Amino acid sequence: MRRNEEYRFCPRCGGELERRQVKKGEPERLVCRRCGFVFYLDPKIAACTIIEVEGKIVLLRRAIHPALGSWVIPGGFVDLGETVPGAAVRETREEASVNVTLGPLVGIYSYPDVSVVIVVYEAVIVGGTPAAGDESSELGLFEPSGIPWQSLAFASTSDALRDYLKGRHPGTIHS
Ligand SMILES: [Zn+2]
Repeated sequence: MRRNEEYRFCPRCGGELERRQVKKGEPERLVCRRCGFVFYLDPKIAACTIIEVEGKIVLLRRAIHPALGSWVIPGGFVDLGETVPGAAVRETREEASVNVTLGPLVGIYSYPDVSVVIVVYEAVIVGGTPAAGDESSELGLFEPSGIPWQSLAFASTSDALRDYLKGRHPGTIHS
């Protein structure tokens, strides 16, 4: 999603896009040759939660690409018009089948080579029984000392779990 070449035509008028320096000191942008529309490529936002059931952390095994078969925390993309906390609650309901109340922010994770900014909250289950939704093949409950670090889906998954465990279960991280 970083490569500007993936977008060839103006979403406004259908004209051809070209790479051009719009403002000195900024990266080249995609600009429409016909109407001048500047197609800014912005990061997407994802909202996720870390939840525990009797001291064990809820992880989902992905049944979709990318990272099929790897474990993630519940979460997904924020829709336009939705709040970030609202998306975290909705995605957790869709993916882990539970209603949650959000707790403190665990962190905000961004990487130069990743087109998504990931916002992660602690959350507490207030209704439902954890079960995998349709984007997952399995829901797992992991002791803090038994997190499958080698099989986590994304850098943000590891980084968020590490930050969470440092605060909540000190002594379980050995890195
Ligand atoms: Zn145009």
